[in-house]
Amino acid sequence: MSPDLPDCAFVPRPPGPPVPPTLSWLGASLWACFFPLFPAPLRQPLQSRAIRRLLTPRYALPSHAPGVEWSAAKWESFWRTSLPHSSRTVLFRFLTGKLTSRSLLFRIVPTLVSSPKCSICRYHDESSVHLLFACPFKMRVWRLAWQRHFATPFDSIQNVVSSFTSWSWPPLRPGTPSLSAPLVLGTILAAHWSAHWRHVYDDIPFSVSNVLISVNKSIQLLRDESRLLYPATL
Ligand SMILES: [Zn+2]
Repeated sequence: MSPDLPDCAFVPRPPGPPVPPTLSWLGASLWACFFPLFPAPLRQPLQSRAIRRLLTPRYALPSHAPGVEWSAAKWESFWRTSLPHSSRTVLFRFLTGKLTSRSLLFRIVPTLVSSPKCSICRYHDESSVHLLFACPFKMRVWRLAWQRHFATPFDSIQNVVSSFTSWSWPPLRPGTPSLSAPLVLGTILAAHWSAHWRHVYDDIPFSVSNVLISVNKSIQLLRDESRLLYPATL
């Protein structure tokens, strides 16, 4: 990798020495054992960055992935930012263009998913943005939750989408010290995700009011935890 390229696993790699086929511990160990046997031109200094680069797969994000232009620093911030675990996983799949929306599944396994239509509104094709944000039912939750917790007006669902895709955050309303905007947005996202799959697998209707109740309970829980951990800030 040339020095001017960010050290990020998701950046397309220029031609270079062969890459070990697996990320497993065993694979890494075998690679370390056999590395000295490679001809000298294929060797690189065994610095941590070089090892990490060699052990990462040849993997480039699809061009439509929202995170395709992200720098290594932004990805590092993604992993360091405090978020509910379930929402970080969902966001990673969204940002890397790998969220299993019905549009994607219809394209790759039409025998299993017979229509790209959203199973909640039953009108729009379910893209990844529609699945998480733009379905009219989910947009209503986002709007109401945003208006309750954030200080800036909710102009459109793009407010939410761009917060995640740019990894920059709107200010919270006063009175929510010790909670961060990504934590609040991640909590809302986690409630969406949970309600979505309860609808898909358990036939529980996606209810805007129930999702909002779930969001408010989760955020109250975060506040209570903060009160215990950081009593001086409240
Ligand atoms: Zn929909």
